[in-house]
Amino acid sequence: MVVVTILIMQLYWMYGSSRVYTISPDAYQFLATNDQVAGGQSRSSIRVEDGKAILSCELIKSANYAWPYCGVSIGLTDKIFEGMDLTHFHTVKMNIDFEQIDRPESPRMRFYLRNFNSAYSQPDNEYTQKYNGLEYTPGSGGGSIDIPIKNLQVMTWWLVDNKVPIQHSAPEFSNVTKVELATGSGHSEGEYQMTIHSIEFIGYYVSAEGLMFGLLLFWISLALLYSVIEIRRSHKLILHAHFRQDHLRKLNKELKEQNIHFAELANRDALTGAMNRHSIRDWLDIHYPAIGHAGKRLSVLYLDIDHFKSVNDLYGHAMGDDVLREFTMVALSALSASDRLVRWGGEEFVVFCPGRDKQDAAELAERIRHKVESHIWIHGDPLTTSIGVASLGDERVNEMLTRADEALYVAKQQGRNRVEVSE
Ligand code: GH3
Ligand code: MG
Ligand code: MG
Repeated sequence: MVVVTILIMQLYWMYGSSRVYTISPDAYQFLATNDQVAGGQSRSSIRVEDGKAILSCELIKSANYAWPYCGVSIGLTDKIFEGMDLTHFHTVKMNIDFEQIDRPESPRMRFYLRNFNSAYSQPDNEYTQKYNGLEYTPGSGGGSIDIPIKNLQVMTWWLVDNKVPIQHSAPEFSNVTKVELATGSGHSEGEYQMTIHSIEFIGYYVSAEGLMFGLLLFWISLALLYSVIEIRRSHKLILHAHFRQDHLRKLNKELKEQNIHFAELANRDALTGAMNRHSIRDWLDIHYPAIGHAGKRLSVLYLDIDHFKSVNDLYGHAMGDDVLREFTMVALSALSASDRLVRWGGEEFVVFCPGRDKQDAAELAERIRHKVESHIWIHGDPLTTSIGVASLGDERVNEMLTRADEALYVAKQQGRNRVEVSE
């Protein structure tokens, strides 16, 4: 944007003021004027030759009109009150030859830009259009003369005749209807010739204020565009962030659920679904801490399937697994909600029975033993289990477990499919 702005300003500085507007007889009507309209007797005629307008003029003094003149009037528009805006032009370049026939000295000439303004002009009175003008001596064969438009002044006789108020007395070029050329004041009688080679207005393509305003608009619109793009971009980013957040939340939830699932799995024996030794340790730590469990009832049943090796040997390891699962179900069906069945390892299980005394636990063990003995197993053979029972005394939980194990050993020794209670 900075580069573009500098470039535009540079171009404006170099070429911005070289717009050319040509007033030629091809495009505009050049009319001969004279003092006959005011009662004089001067004569004038105009002809166009090779793109040049040539005015022939004979100034004749008369009794009726004291200031004989003739000239050329060039209408810039068709409508008298709608002229051309020449405020963007700074110079008028004129190539005019003006001479008095058979006289060596160069006569003076007047140049006017007539401006219509309804504040002081009337459409039906041509004289009320402002005379912005100057007088100069074009000479003959001298080529072009540049006249700065700001050098034009409002004719004082026009201001006086029309009683124009002060605020409208300055030169004005915003609504120029005519370009006029005329013989100057105090010319002697005789024949004159004015050859108009060219009239050109040189000006700005755009006014400096217009350019600044345009550049300002350019900057503002680009800034607005940039803001809109930025807003849309951040909106997109926010949406994307929201989407990611939602996605992460969902993922987090799924992970949590999976963690719970895994945590449950970690607490359970993978083959049978019974609790594992790790989880029962946690349970014991909470409910039967090393110090402070005195007076709390707890019994254990130590179960070991009898001759389980032969199930594997006869029916294969996979069948052995199925029997272990079935054994878990059978044992669980005898337990109440507070009892905890733990797979202690291999074909050995321990039931922790909070709240049960020795008697109660022994009865439960007997019920399990009986269920196992009477169950019809998947491999088709009968199955039995031996159980050692112990109740928590003034000892550690581990010591009670050892006693239950010893009771189990006794049960095995006594011929299996038995319940032995540690006293
Ligand atoms: P006892 O009456 O003296 O307890 O005899 P037992 O055959 O049950 O005892 P033993 O300790 O000699 O054999 C236990 C068998 O249990 C050996 C092992 O192959 C089997 N076993 C241990 N864990 C698994 C298991 O996860 N799956 C299967 N299929 N078999 C197992
Ligand atoms: Mg065993
Ligand atoms: Mg066994």
